[in-house]
Amino acid sequence: MKTTAQTARSALQDASDTQLAIELIGLGARPQVVEAEVALSRSRVYRLYRELTGGSPPKGMLPFSADWFVTWRPNAHASYLLSVHEYMQQRAGLPGIRAVLNSYRVYAEHMKTNNEECLISFTRFWTLVRFCEGGLLQLSTCPCCGGRFVTHAHEPLASFICTLCQPPSRVRRSVRRETPDAAANTPAAILPNRAPVAMPGFGMVPAL
Ligand SMILES: [Zn+2]
Repeated sequence: MKTTAQTARSALQDASDTQLAIELIGLGARPQVVEAEVALSRSRVYRLYRELTGGSPPKGMLPFSADWFVTWRPNAHASYLLSVHEYMQQRAGLPGIRAVLNSYRVYAEHMKTNNEECLISFTRFWTLVRFCEGGLLQLSTCPCCGGRFVTHAHEPLASFICTLCQPPSRVRRSVRRETPDAAANTPAAILPNRAPVAMPGFGMVPAL
């Protein structure tokens, strides 16, 4: 039989889990992510999801490909998000899911301010953090520009050059077609206003 203190504590825990679930769903987390982060029953999580979004959750598996994060455009977004996440953990001292939540808020705000689409959903970002914690992906520093980018773990640092300094050939080809001037084929010209920038406390992060 539970004592009054235990009941009160579990009621508080329940309230705190419900609040966290609401925040997660509000940022677009799928029910599987919410279930992994809070101690609420599956039916409760799904009920909350339907109430808050007014619809049913998407069916199917969570996005599981680690390779996706190292492809051209997703890599810039993932690198920015992970740099912010590193800051939230190491400098701001936020634990676990709180660091993930706050990083995603910064990213979403940054995208909104720049009128850009959030290429990485909250659920994808949560998966990215799990990939890093599981030792599949990491942030590596580009020796060319000093920016930090998501790479496969144990990437040989001597050979790593980021995709801004060395864009994939298909990107270079499409730019060449559009801009016959050879001088326009430099990374800076390919991504005007998108060179990595120094942000206080973050080091170099891609300006998306
Ligand atoms: Zn670089």
